[in-house]
Amino acid sequence: MESGMVRPLIAGNWKMNGLSQSCDTIASIASGLATYDDVADCLICPPATLLSKVVEAASGSRLKTGAQDCHASSSGAHTGDIAAEMIADIGGEYVIIGHSERRADHGETSEMVAAKAEAAFRAGLTPIICIGETLEEREAGRTIEVVSSQLAGSIPASAFGKSFVVAYEPVWAIGTGKVASTGQVEEVHDKIREILGERFPGQADETPILYGGSMKPGNAAELLAVENVDGGLIGGASLKAEDFLAIYAACVTQK
Ligand code: PEP
Repeated sequence: MESGMVRPLIAGNWKMNGLSQSCDTIASIASGLATYDDVADCLICPPATLLSKVVEAASGSRLKTGAQDCHASSSGAHTGDIAAEMIADIGGEYVIIGHSERRADHGETSEMVAAKAEAAFRAGLTPIICIGETLEEREAGRTIEVVSSQLAGSIPASAFGKSFVVAYEPVWAIGTGKVASTGQVEEVHDKIREILGERFPGQADETPILYGGSMKPGNAAELLAVENVDGGLIGGASLKAEDFLAIYAACVTQK
């Protein structure tokens, strides 16, 4: 935290989890949020099948909603894909782009991620651009090189400081229970802030930089206290209202 003007963000990524009944969890998160000071944003990105219902369940609360991916085009012959405009049309405000599971499972390159982020801007959405190194890359001492190159290639030309969010997610820490040490997180987040400063002079402090990778109620306070960590992208622990709200509480306490 303490990176100046950024409003923190606690974002949940439900991945391929959730059926209609999961909207009870949304209702619990939405009502729970009202008990905390309004000093940080809170977001859930459910699977596309639930987004409409989740938008409805969150309406009238501080809970924001978004999707987990979008296509670069606004419409057309792309079976199974959804456009950023479709997400905006049903009330979503954010879209996760370039998650490591999509980079790995669907061969998404940083160039494709940048095109999707442009699509998000076109539709009025805020993209959460994910970057992160594999264990092999870390062990080869290539973390900073990999993350810097993904960041440079994934931010689209028309971006500016406030228009997007970056999520640093070491691939080896996602869904594994292994958490990056505060030192490892600080090193990468500092580097991301430095790169943003070079690309967007005077606006680097306007971009939220989230940490993601096995963030839980038990480790959130420590991770969120790291300089230049402006919030979290949370997978597993976002599926339970109690755990997700505990992470949000840890974020609010830092302010
Ligand atoms: C994620 O899906 O982005 C993530 C960080 O997952 P988890 O919290 O389960 O590691």
